[in-house]
Amino acid sequence: MDNDSNQDSDMRVNPIVDSYGRVHRSLRISVTDRCNIRCFYCMPENVKFLPQDSILTFEEIHRVVEILAKQGVSRVRLTGGEPLVRSELWNLVKLLKSVSGIEEIALTTNGILLKDQAEKLKSSGLDRINVSLDSIDRDKFKEITRRDALDKVLAGLDAAIDAGFTNTRINAVSVKGISETEVIPLVSWAQEQGLHLRFIEFMPLDGDQAWQDQQVFSGTMLRAIIETEFGALVPVERDRSSQPSTDFQLSEGGSHIGFIDSVTEPFCQSCDRMRITAEGKFRNCLFSTEEWDLKQLIRSNASNDQIEQRIRDGIQHKKLGHGSDSGRFVRPERAMYQIGG
Ligand code: SAM
Ligand code: SF4
Repeated sequence: MDNDSNQDSDMRVNPIVDSYGRVHRSLRISVTDRCNIRCFYCMPENVKFLPQDSILTFEEIHRVVEILAKQGVSRVRLTGGEPLVRSELWNLVKLLKSVSGIEEIALTTNGILLKDQAEKLKSSGLDRINVSLDSIDRDKFKEITRRDALDKVLAGLDAAIDAGFTNTRINAVSVKGISETEVIPLVSWAQEQGLHLRFIEFMPLDGDQAWQDQQVFSGTMLRAIIETEFGALVPVERDRSSQPSTDFQLSEGGSHIGFIDSVTEPFCQSCDRMRITAEGKFRNCLFSTEEWDLKQLIRSNASNDQIEQRIRDGIQHKKLGHGSDSGRFVRPERAMYQIGG
């Protein structure tokens, strides 16, 4: 069947809207569940990864992005697992960059393979990079990630800057009992480097299923620690209402420090994000317990309209809030590396 046979009859944008009126413009695509480190809050030490033929090809991802871009999706983030372990990821960046309507392609990475790939990613059209880094102390980094790779991450960051990436953000997951000693050094380092640092609360999506609410190092606690050391934080206006982080500056002109308080202060009301897992399951929320299979449709020669309809079905089931801050919360079966953070 011609996949495009019935898709272009109506060129008007019909945005992807859920039953609460939230318009979805942002898509997070997991390109692999594999990773080259083992952050304890994400992945178990011993993992059975997906077989290669069960993950979406670049062409299949491109097709889904084209379908969604026609309906107003303009931002794509590539994630994983570790996206840079997917062979020649820059070719996917090139493909997606050519999609009309896509305004920004971003990447979330642990940075380990950036040194070798930063230039290719930049010349292929990647717009922005977030590097995950929870500590700038070698031993602490190893304790958290179960691998001795801090030097590689820092070299990767340097390579990204040399390749011309700007607005690079650092994502740091904060966990009580582990991150207390890391907060001030991280803030000082990020300020020196002129990098935008964002603290993310530990969410119940760890592969070991050992998360406990006492381990959540809340944004409120973090801000208090930072203010004790550096003085009052200066609030910064949001770039977009759907921006998940609340940003501050240490002082006028300093780089931003953001707090993604997903557990203690969920921002579901303004969420505009959709997700596709590496094996092609559509998810309407990080914490969703339901998924909609796109790969099965794609590989059975379905039309673009059928694929779009399945996504719309999934978005209609999006809940008003994920509830991780309430007693009614049901933990998803998947861990973060299996969804795509
Ligand atoms: N491997 C890449 C990386 O680490 O940046 C991309 C995938 S990773 C799953 C995406 C983001 O999720 C990272 O910033 C990571 O720190 C964060 N993350 C993973 N598990 C988490 C958890 N249980 N709670 C909060 N953030 C988590
Ligand atoms: Fe790998 Fe990223 Fe998960 Fe760490 S957070 S184990 S780097 S996928």
